[in-house]
Amino acid sequence: MLKVDNVSAAYGKALALKEVSLKVEKGEIVSLIGANGAGKTTALRVISGMIRPLKGEVTFEGKSIVGLEPYQIASIGIIHVPEGRGLFPEMTVRENLEMGAFLRTDKDSISEDLEFVYSLFPVLKEREKQLAGTLSGGEQQMLAIGKGLMGNPKLLMLDEPSLGLAPMLVDKIFETIVQINKEKGTTILIAEQNAYMALTSAHRAYVIENGVTVMEGTGEELLGNEHVKKAYLGI
Ligand code: ATP
Repeated sequence: MLKVDNVSAAYGKALALKEVSLKVEKGEIVSLIGANGAGKTTALRVISGMIRPLKGEVTFEGKSIVGLEPYQIASIGIIHVPEGRGLFPEMTVRENLEMGAFLRTDKDSISEDLEFVYSLFPVLKEREKQLAGTLSGGEQQMLAIGKGLMGNPKLLMLDEPSLGLAPMLVDKIFETIVQINKEKGTTILIAEQNAYMALTSAHRAYVIENGVTVMEGTGEELLGNEHVKKAYLGI
């Protein structure tokens, strides 16, 4: 479904990705794990068109998407839930969810998807009229994922969904990510520092270090890998 081939990207002169290749098949959950500053966010930004790669190719469903504007990439079904969540704090929960559906052409299924989001996160229904900026961190993360789902993604990209959340909430968020994948069949790419959660929830994963993908495997394989254990799992 998604192929990233030999992509390099930089901020000014600072190279952040060096010939990174990865792929995501339809129906998969794929995680990108790595330390702070390894290049995970940059990889998602290249895919969603926020950064143009210096070299390399990105294809989605067989077509190149390099050079498309972010809104064009969103409208073909790649929805990016950024680190920091990308919410409109002065708008209500409901309005944020509606904004998530802004680019959709299949307006008929919007109310069905709203019900699905509310079934995943009942607290969002309870707080429908509350301003997004007044929600707790965990509720904001739920809203960010819900807003992403309202865009009817073929590929949902989540940047650090665990960031700043208490362990119980982190569990809940990852359980829900797996549930979305199972119930809706949504393909999901996660950039995540919490390697344990990212690997236990994913079908496959890549390890990024200093802008280079140094390892790939199934979640299980990487959980058992000695380097991953030492560097990312603290075992
Ligand atoms: P994090 O978990 O902190 O988001 P990451 O793995 O997602 O880490 P990136 O944010 O992709 O890493 O950062 C890769 C490199 O690019 C780092 O060296 C970082 O300092 C640099 N970088 C990231 N964003 C910018 C920016 N907007 N301007 C300049 N340099 C940046």
